[in-house]
Amino acid sequence: MRLDVQSIIHTPGGGIEFNEELDFSDVDFGGVYPAVRPVSVVGAVRNVAGMLSLTADIDTVLACVCDRCGAAFDKPFHLGVERMLATELEDEENDDILLLDDGAFELDELAREAFILNMDTKTLCREDCKGLCSGCGANLNFEACRCKKEIDPRWAALQKLL
Ligand SMILES: [Zn+2]
Ligand SMILES: [Zn+2]
Repeated sequence: MRLDVQSIIHTPGGGIEFNEELDFSDVDFGGVYPAVRPVSVVGAVRNVAGMLSLTADIDTVLACVCDRCGAAFDKPFHLGVERMLATELEDEENDDILLLDDGAFELDELAREAFILNMDTKTLCREDCKGLCSGCGANLNFEACRCKKEIDPRWAALQKLL
């Protein structure tokens, strides 16, 4: 969605609010698509003493899969975004400033970029998830390992005789 802020560029104290529901269900994180629910983007662009400042809250509930045990679980996602907007860049090096295109910018793109940059690289169902046993596949959060202890072959031969 293109948000036009032309009307407040020269109006100190002016503001434009937005409240959008975006679809990030196509955002791929290593083969999983966690943003299964609508993503709420609520905020405003305000002209503070001649500078345009954007603040936004990005919220959703992600459908996650634990990296260790493979359990599916829901995880709330919240991100606060603050950016300065400008009609021209005085300092090319400063990429914190979002350059307006004809007095407007793409709110979806800004939110999507912030969302992707702030995703956790590791997803755990809980901090101390014990994961799965590599031998028997038992979920060690809920059950004991079922791997049989290796029996000494000499004892095995003896057991057959008894
Ligand atoms: Zn887990
Ligand atoms: Zn095991």
